[in-house]
Amino acid sequence: MLKLSYSDYAALRAHGEESYPHECCGILLGKAEADGNVVREIVRAGNTRTDSAHNRYHIAPEELIRTQRQARRLGLDIVGFYHSHPDHPAQWSQTDFNEAHWFGCSYVITAVAEGKATITNSFLLTGSNEEDKKFLDEAVEIEVSNLETTQERGEQ
Ligand SMILES: [Zn+2]
Repeated sequence: MLKLSYSDYAALRAHGEESYPHECCGILLGKAEADGNVVREIVRAGNTRTDSAHNRYHIAPEELIRTQRQARRLGLDIVGFYHSHPDHPAQWSQTDFNEAHWFGCSYVITAVAEGKATITNSFLLTGSNEEDKKFLDEAVEIEVSNLETTQERGEQ
């Protein structure tokens, strides 16, 4: 299971809408707990692929290292990654699978249809090497804080 706050969930979906028709990508910082990855912070990453930014994503190694340092300073780890699929379903592609190397991490994909974020799915990368790795469908639990609940009520 992947747990994240409503504001982080909304922010990663908004990132997909802003980047449309290109893919966005980012990194999930948090803690791996017994019942799943818990996100505490999301970090936007630049999409460094220029060959076909609409259907491939890539996070530069320097950016990944910088984010990992930032995570450690906060007492967190990298627990996942997210990206968007402009006008494509929220399902992993063969390229996504080939480029996934962080075992135990959650790979979140948001489908963005005509500029609007629709479905967000998460896939847990299991296994221990390139031969036995697998993506498993993972439930996403959105934690709504009291404050956010109050704000939403206030808007109605
Ligand atoms: Zn993808």
